[in-house]
Amino acid sequence: MSHPDLARRFLADQARTTWHDQAVWSFRAKRDLQAHGIPEWEALRDAAAGIKAHTMSRLAEYLEEFERNATRNGAVVHWARDAAGHNRIVLDILRERGATRLVKSKSMLTEECGLNPFLEAHGITVTDTDLGERIVQLSGMGPSHIVAPAIHLRREEVGDLFHRLLGTPEGLSDPTVLTAAARLHLRERFLACDAALTGANFGVAETGGIVVVTNEGNADLGITLAPLHIASMGIEKLIPRLEHLAVFVRLLARSTTGQPISAYTSHVHAPRPGAELHIVIVDNGRTAQLARPEFRGSLHCIRCGACLNTCPVFRRSGGYSYGYVLPGPIGQVLAPGADPRAHRDLPFASSLCLSCGDVCPVKVDLPDQLYRWRQRLGERGLVSRRKRAAMRAMGWVMARPAWYERAGRLARWGLRHGPRWLLMSRLNPWARERELPEGPAETFRDWYRKHRGRGPVL
Ligand code: SF4
Repeated sequence: MSHPDLARRFLADQARTTWHDQAVWSFRAKRDLQAHGIPEWEALRDAAAGIKAHTMSRLAEYLEEFERNATRNGAVVHWARDAAGHNRIVLDILRERGATRLVKSKSMLTEECGLNPFLEAHGITVTDTDLGERIVQLSGMGPSHIVAPAIHLRREEVGDLFHRLLGTPEGLSDPTVLTAAARLHLRERFLACDAALTGANFGVAETGGIVVVTNEGNADLGITLAPLHIASMGIEKLIPRLEHLAVFVRLLARSTTGQPISAYTSHVHAPRPGAELHIVIVDNGRTAQLARPEFRGSLHCIRCGACLNTCPVFRRSGGYSYGYVLPGPIGQVLAPGADPRAHRDLPFASSLCLSCGDVCPVKVDLPDQLYRWRQRLGERGLVSRRKRAAMRAMGWVMARPAWYERAGRLARWGLRHGPRWLLMSRLNPWARERELPEGPAETFRDWYRKHRGRGPVL
């Protein structure tokens, strides 16, 4: 289904749309407070963008340096060309050690690879241990936000889910009590696990270590308890030196949830005595993206979610409307690279308000990339005739100020005098999702003209 169709489903529940919008926006508001509280914020963004651009320009060298140092530390490094290769490597590692119970901390890469269904089809019990991730796993869905996977669910819905699957009392919806119930349930899974899988927020070439950032400490608990730790890392997660990490750690939590720092920033360099550490380095289309100069910048992404939180389309259409593992602006520029035909509508699901580019801590040029994808998809004939005609007409009008003014006047006249049945018909997509205001709209200019000469108006 296309983005508009999936968005329409989400918009059908206006109450959910409103609080989703507000909940996601609250992250953006907190992010602004943090960003404005640091005078060197823009300098940090520049530094982060520079480090990432440099790393991408010498990625092969840094990957080899990382492998050398990780191996010297005692980790086993594996290379996966694609999602299938990644999943097969993880399964083989688990099978060779007879591991059947895996606890997993949040990793968008494993979502991208479809690891959970693959392992479960091969008899491995996978438990996502991040609270939001566990909620969506129990509900049979994937994450709807890259940082807050269950943000689309009401607490009553979570209470109902826990009642059915975890045996909590019916009607319980207190988030504190529900969290305590989840903690007990997850603790049992942790204590019984054979292996732990984590993502990696960063891999440091200089040390061969990985860095995992969480708020719940679930990654650390798995790593500490399990005799086997598997870390899945995309090739773009590398940074050259340990000193570079500080730049990203200062930006990440502030951009994500508006916290000065996440609760846990864990460094993993070597396996615990008697345990094993395997690092699976995954390409899965990243080198293809690296080879597209216009879209290479998307590989700088540190998956903070800030572009989702600020995007007016994401806030009002929800994460599932994108039909891709990564929703929001970053998903919209990565998805067409993965499959241009399947995701041809995504670059158009944007107002191009530029806000995503403004908030991105590593300065991914998201609006520019969205604009360029529209052009590339058009060149490949993947944009519908209707959309192309509408865009052409819009471009023609917008290039002529006098016509733009006339079109605006016509639209205003239509809103004020047009028959309501016509305004609410299928000809007007806006009206399909929202109620028109009652009565004719009055512009400030009209109101001023009407009252001019009747005494002070301001
Ligand atoms: S593109 Fe930028 S803002 Fe969006 S998730 Fe990635 S780092 Fe964050």
